[in-house]
Amino acid sequence: MLQQTQVKTVIPYFNNFTKKFKTLKALSKSKEKDILKMWEGLGYYRRARNLLACSKKIVKNYNFKLPDTIDEITKLPGVGNYTGSALLGLIYNKPTIALDGNVKRVFSRYINVTENKINFDNFIQKNKKKLFNTKRNADFVEALMEFGALVCKPKDPICHTCCLNKTCKYFTSDNKINSLRKKMIKNKDYDIFCYINKKKQIALTKNNQIGFLKNFNLPKIKESNGFTKKQNWKFLKRYKNSISNLKLNINLYYKFSDQIPSMYNWYSLKENKEFVPSFTKKIFKQVSTLF
Ligand code: SF4
Repeated sequence: MLQQTQVKTVIPYFNNFTKKFKTLKALSKSKEKDILKMWEGLGYYRRARNLLACSKKIVKNYNFKLPDTIDEITKLPGVGNYTGSALLGLIYNKPTIALDGNVKRVFSRYINVTENKINFDNFIQKNKKKLFNTKRNADFVEALMEFGALVCKPKDPICHTCCLNKTCKYFTSDNKINSLRKKMIKNKDYDIFCYINKKKQIALTKNNQIGFLKNFNLPKIKESNGFTKKQNWKFLKRYKNSISNLKLNINLYYKFSDQIPSMYNWYSLKENKEFVPSFTKKIFKQVSTLF
């Protein structure tokens, strides 16, 4: 839940989630639509699907126990090297480092070499005696990430009181590297076509191939090259929506109709028992202005 999401946003979701799914077994037996409903509003819904798939796999293939090697743990859905290393360190106290952006920045500054010039695996291997010189590996994994987030921050690192400042090359150098990462923003245009009816319903389908919302409930959606008039559709609005590093320009079209293509179902614009992603809810908001 915490990937790409702030702690204060996660807390109520985490509390509800762990209240409902008290054990791994309970989670593994749940339905995807229930998990997604509880995740509604938190975004990055692939995490929810992966969590469910992980719980099933751990129950079925690993006898209810999280694997304790990097080779096995990274066979779990959605678990790559970063998450796998974090779990092995935090849960099994293994000497690992979860290489997120914060940790990479700390290492990069400490030796005053830009991130793209560092082979981090080699770096860790070469320095493992210094890095793992206590038995508190779990604390170390967490501490390193927190250190990057709170002390060696992206902007204005707190060097003057930092415990590493005597040996840190970034602090002591007159020729400091530029350690600010540029966020790669991608712009994309999408046309969205909404079938709506007088009962204030909208037709949605899970049959879409849009990468960031694949198989989630959406109206008809297509990548486009900007706004153009569309035959048989009325133009409602052009608006922006951001998802992660994607900036989306949405051209919203609609038509009143009682007929909808197969694979589509009607959903209320107001309240739904089934999970509807925030991206689709924003469309609801725009379409609701027609009533
Ligand atoms: S001295 Fe500054 S740059 Fe170096 S590790 Fe500490 S906070 Fe980061």
